[in-house]
Amino acid sequence: MNNKQQRVLVVAAHADDEVLGCGATIAKHIANQDKVKVIFMTDGVGARDNSSVQESQARTLALTNAMTALGVTDYQCFDFPDNQMDTVSLLSIVKEIEQVIAEFQPSIVYSHFGHDLNIDHRITHQAVMTACRPIKGHSVKKILSFEVLSSTEWQSASAPSFKPQYIVNISQFWPQKLQALQSYQQELRAFPHSRSLECIEALATLRGASHGFEKAEAFQVERILAQ
Ligand SMILES: [Zn+2]
Repeated sequence: MNNKQQRVLVVAAHADDEVLGCGATIAKHIANQDKVKVIFMTDGVGARDNSSVQESQARTLALTNAMTALGVTDYQCFDFPDNQMDTVSLLSIVKEIEQVIAEFQPSIVYSHFGHDLNIDHRITHQAVMTACRPIKGHSVKKILSFEVLSSTEWQSASAPSFKPQYIVNISQFWPQKLQALQSYQQELRAFPHSRSLECIEALATLRGASHGFEKAEAFQVERILAQ
C-alpha cells in the first residue's frame, strides 16, 4: 500500500476519454488511496445540436455510472463547446484548469496527447501544458499523456506519433475499466471500429504483453520533475 498519498488530476476533453485513456490507472490510484479528481472540458452537446433533454440526461447518467465504476467521487464538468473548443480563447480554458490546479494541488496530471486527430484533445493538451508551466512552487511534478482510440491513431502520418514510455500494469483493474466502458455504451462502436470493446481490450493486451504484463495502460511522458 502507498505510504504517501498522491493527488491526481485527470483532464479529459469529453466524457469517455478518461476511461479510454486511463480508466484502470484511475481505479488503481483510488485503490492506493490516492486523491483523484477528474475534470471534463466540454458540454458534450455542441456538435449534436438536435440532442434532446433525454439524450443529455443519458450522457450525465453514463458519466455518473463510469465515475462510480472507477471509484471517483470528485469530478467536475465545464461547458466548453463540444468539438469546437477552437472557437473559444485558449486563455479562457487555461484559466479554468489553473483554478482547479490552484485549489486541488495535484502532483500528477493525466491528459490528452498533443497530436490527436480530435481538435478538443489537442487544445486540452495545450491548455494543460500552459497551466502546468514549471515555475517555482508549482504542485505538478508529473505530466502524462494518454492515448484515446479513434483519435490518437487516426492523426495524419506527418504528425508526431504517440510514443509511450510510462507503462502502468492494470491487470487487476481491467474489470473496472470494462464496467466503466459499458456505461459509455453509446460512445462505443461495433468491431472492427477502433472504439469497440474488442479493440480497446486488444490495445490493453498489447500494451501489457509488450512489457510483461497481462494488461496495461501506456502513457507518453510530457514531464517528470524529481526533487
Ligand atoms: Zn474525446
